[in-house]
Amino acid sequence: MGKLDGRVVIVTGAARGQGEQEARLFAAEGARVVVADVLDDRGEALAKEIGARYVHLDVGREEDWRAAVTATKDAYGQLDGLVNNAGILRFNSLLDTPVDEFMQVVRVNQVGCFLGIKAVAPEMSDGGTIVNTSSCTGLTGMAAVGAYAASKHAVVGLTRVAALELAGRGIRVNAVCPGAVDTAMSNPASPDPDADPEQTAKGLDRLYRKLVPLGRAGRPEEVARLALFLTSQDSSYITGQPFVIDGGWLAGVSVI
Ligand code: NAD
Repeated sequence: MGKLDGRVVIVTGAARGQGEQEARLFAAEGARVVVADVLDDRGEALAKEIGARYVHLDVGREEDWRAAVTATKDAYGQLDGLVNNAGILRFNSLLDTPVDEFMQVVRVNQVGCFLGIKAVAPEMSDGGTIVNTSSCTGLTGMAAVGAYAASKHAVVGLTRVAALELAGRGIRVNAVCPGAVDTAMSNPASPDPDADPEQTAKGLDRLYRKLVPLGRAGRPEEVARLALFLTSQDSSYITGQPFVIDGGWLAGVSVI
């Protein structure tokens, strides 16, 4: 018995990173998964490998959402779960952030999550689940990621409101709030083309040893296990909550 036997779940931003691991784990747990992304080649290859379906879905486009929901219902006849995972990150001080950049981040992280709830919930079976991907920066500040932190705070607000409004149908809505997770987002290619990737990775390792009580970045598979918990019956009495998964980063500061 898989934890998601008989359930149909859309995972956005599933071509790589945390979304990819969520799609893999959910399929292994018996779900029929819809892999949704804008990285078509990668998403299609993953879907083929795990026996899922791929849909091209730019989460900021309402018409893409409508098409994705229709494709899911046509293929499987039902829709029971959504993981709003797609996201982008931009580094800039607030005062240097152009409005276009701010809006680009809000469009994917915040509007994408809103549109996902709006498109999927009316078509979702009663008792379904929605897992939104916020961040530690959805609960605390972090310099140089103002647009991102604002959008991730908004995701926590959307999660709480959606949980209240959908509880009558037994639809549960929660958020995952990861700290640093080892994906392309937290480990981008260095802007310096001559930088040694090994040295860059060692620099990040040193940083996480200093900042994170557990001394390392998280693995995308670890976030996938939290998303599975929130999508399965194991979390049947939990809704409207943000769940931090950060190796202790937000626990407090250490003075020794
Ligand atoms: P990632 O960059 O590897 O994956 C993000 C995925 O989202 C990619 O597949 C990308 O193609 C997709 N995507 C981007 N824009 C999209 C759009 N408009 N429509 C559909 N798909 C789109 O990064 P990740 O770490 O796997 O990020 C997954 C989620 O976790 C994001 O919401 C991110 O903000 C959040 N998060 C990541 C970290 C971290 O340290 N990696 C920490 C906290 C939260």
